[in-house]
Amino acid sequence: MNYDVAIIGGGMVGASLGVALAPLGIRVAIIEAVAHDSALQPSFDERTTALSNGSRRILESLGTWPQVAAAASAIRKIHVSDQGRFGFARIEAAEQGLEALGYVVPNRALGAALWSQLHADPRASTLAGAAAGLAAPRLFCPAHVTAVAAQADQVVLQIHTPDGSTEMTSKLIVAADGINSVVRSALGVAATFRDYHQTALITTVLPKNFHEHVAFERFTEDGPLALLPLNDGRCTLVLTLGSEAVVTAMAWSDQQFLAELQRRFGFRLGRFLKVGRRVAYPLSLSRAQHTSAPRCAIIGNAAQGLHPVAGMGFNLGLRDVASLAELIADRCGRMRFDPGSRDLLDAYDAWRTKDRAGVIAFTDGLIRLFSNPLGSVRTLRNAGLLAFDLLPPAKAALSRLSVGASGRVPKLARGVPLTRGAS
Ligand SMILES: Cc1cc2nc3c(=O)[nH]c(=O)nc-3n(C[C@H](O)[C@H](O)[C@H](O)COP(=O)(O)OP(=O)(O)OC[C@H]3O[C@@H](n4cnc5c(N)ncnc54)[C@H](O)[C@@H]3O)c2cc1C
Repeated sequence: MNYDVAIIGGGMVGASLGVALAPLGIRVAIIEAVAHDSALQPSFDERTTALSNGSRRILESLGTWPQVAAAASAIRKIHVSDQGRFGFARIEAAEQGLEALGYVVPNRALGAALWSQLHADPRASTLAGAAAGLAAPRLFCPAHVTAVAAQADQVVLQIHTPDGSTEMTSKLIVAADGINSVVRSALGVAATFRDYHQTALITTVLPKNFHEHVAFERFTEDGPLALLPLNDGRCTLVLTLGSEAVVTAMAWSDQQFLAELQRRFGFRLGRFLKVGRRVAYPLSLSRAQHTSAPRCAIIGNAAQGLHPVAGMGFNLGLRDVASLAELIADRCGRMRFDPGSRDLLDAYDAWRTKDRAGVIAFTDGLIRLFSNPLGSVRTLRNAGLLAFDLLPPAKAALSRLSVGASGRVPKLARGVPLTRGAS
């Protein structure tokens, strides 16, 4: 029960870190409260996630991509518009010299792929496997962390499993336990929260016309709506509504729902024919004051929870993973390997600052700009969308932001696999 790294939370981000650390031959534990294939799993649920090209490359480097590729739908074009206004903007993959601007992947497919990689590699438990540096992460699921105490050279964790409580120690713990992170709070790292007073209603819809792999982002008086293309011709709908409007929308009959959607979106995809099950997610911006605490790195939603408008939360979290895993890999061949050292955590904080701040400011700014009902702001916004459509450098800047090119790009995002002690 002594580990080098203990990851608390095996959702989208924590499971990705587990996969990234597996080839390093270090002792890794993952503690996850809910099985990845359970109907109650909060991370691998009915949602789909828009992945940037940078995230695709990271998943390729981790060996995860081949397992999700069949379920992934390419986004070849993004169309942004403002309801009732003339201005709109398009970003095209071909214009940027790219095969796709990103991919839409069902969260459940991602969960199945990551957790199949995490499940013990039988070679790891043999002597030859150990000699080759293979060490499968030890999985504790269902299990949750109930207490955390940082000491000078390790952290003591109390774990609750169906068989009772147990204690483990680790040199580094990683808080990957989501927006309401127990670990972050236990270590006294404050977080700021801003309620957007908006809820994302997620479902799938089938339009009469094929989407041609175009993703639509439309800003309406009631909030933004996004339609993301799926391989079978359906689209994932992310409809953002005020907290009261969502209660009404959840109660609409399917016909009423389709008519309301048609009114907001128009007929770019023809008539909407079918709608799936609707699920609501209240939206807020959360931000931990620090991305580390003594012997603890904070990643993914535990570090920052974003409005899904620009589909950047997981993409940003995956870059947390790629950076942290690289810092650990660089040091793990050293004589006195200590993944919880202040030096490593300082390097992690420094690496993540710029990317994190840029993405939070971009996403939050977008919500503020498009939620403002003032006529003058709407006119400016309209002009902005038109100008954006005419300005290739602005589009190139946005596609760079979505691959996380602000600052040093992690090796995994450049297609370079991590190995022990590589620098
Ligand atoms: C509606 C919606 C749409 C989105 N769309 C996109 C998109 O298109 N693109 C994109 O990049 N991002 C998107 N996001 C954001 C993305 O979903 C999150 O960034 C991502 O889920 C963060 O993953 P995580 O693993 O950090 O946290 P979570 O997904 O919250 O997972 C945390 C995990 O920790 C476990 N856990 C919690 N507490 C404990 C404990 N005490 N002990 C053990 N385990 C614990 C939970 O069971 C869970 O599995 C969207 C978000 C929403 C709400």
